[in-house]
Amino acid sequence: MTSYRYPNEEIILLLTLGGLFVVLLLTAGLTVCLVPLLVGVMVVLAYTMNRSHHQSLLQQATLVGMENAPQLARLVEGCRRRLRTGPVQTFVAPQRALNAYTFGFSSPQVVVLFQPLLRVMDADELRFIVGHELGHVGLGHAWLNTLLGGMAGVPLPFGAAVVVTLAFRWWNRACEFSADRAGMLACGKPEKAISALVKLVTGGISSQAEMDRALQVIEAEDDSPLHVLTESLSTHPMLVKRIDQIRQYAADPQYRRLLAQIEAQNQGA
Ligand SMILES: [Zn+2]
Repeated sequence: MTSYRYPNEEIILLLTLGGLFVVLLLTAGLTVCLVPLLVGVMVVLAYTMNRSHHQSLLQQATLVGMENAPQLARLVEGCRRRLRTGPVQTFVAPQRALNAYTFGFSSPQVVVLFQPLLRVMDADELRFIVGHELGHVGLGHAWLNTLLGGMAGVPLPFGAAVVVTLAFRWWNRACEFSADRAGMLACGKPEKAISALVKLVTGGISSQAEMDRALQVIEAEDDSPLHVLTESLSTHPMLVKRIDQIRQYAADPQYRRLLAQIEAQNQGA
C-alpha cells in the first residue's frame, strides 16, 4: 500500500543524506585544518606579547642585581637554590599594588615583584612570595601561561571561549596551590606563608592583634553559592582555601621530608 509514493522521493532522500554527510566531512576537515592554524596564531601572539612586555619592563622596572640590590638578589638566589629552579631575571616594578607574577617562554624566565612588597613584607614573607613565583617557573606554569596568554587574541566561538576560560581558571587555581607549596619550602615557615597572604589582601598589618582580626574575617569566608561562583571565574582560589591548604601541607609528612632535604643540602653547600 505504499506504491503511490512520488517516484523521486527516495532518491531525493539519498541525495539529501549524501549532502549532509559531505557537509559534515567538510566541516570536520576544516576544523582539523584550523587547529594547527589557531595554535600557530596563538604561539605568534604569545611570543609577541611576551617580548613587548619584557621590553616595557626593561624601560620601567629595575632589574635586580648584586650591584643595585644585593640583599634582594641574595634572597632570590637563596630561594632559587632551595627549590633548584633554573636562573631567573627579577624585576622590581614601580606599581602601587601588592603583587608579583612571572612569565617567559625560555630560561631565564622573569619574576616581577611590585615595589610595595619590599616595604610591607618581612624577609621570610618575601621568601614565600619569591618561592611561590619560582614554583610557577619550576613547575612549568610560567611558560604555559605565557603561551595561553596569546589565546586571548585567538577568536573562539562564544560558547567555546567560556568553556576554555573556565577550564583554564580551574587549572590556574590548582597551580596557585602548588606554587604556595613551593613558597612554603622556600621560606620554611608556614606561619609566614599565611601572614604574607593576609598582607597581600589587607595591604599590610602592623600588629599581631590586627593579624588575628584579619584571619578571623578571612576564615568567615564561606562556601555560599555567590562565593563559589566568584571563585570559578577567578584565577586565584579563595584566600581561606589557600590558608587551609597551607596548614594541611605543613602537617603533611611530604613537606617535612622535602624541607629536611633542603636544609641538609643547604648545610652541605
Ligand atoms: Zn601564583
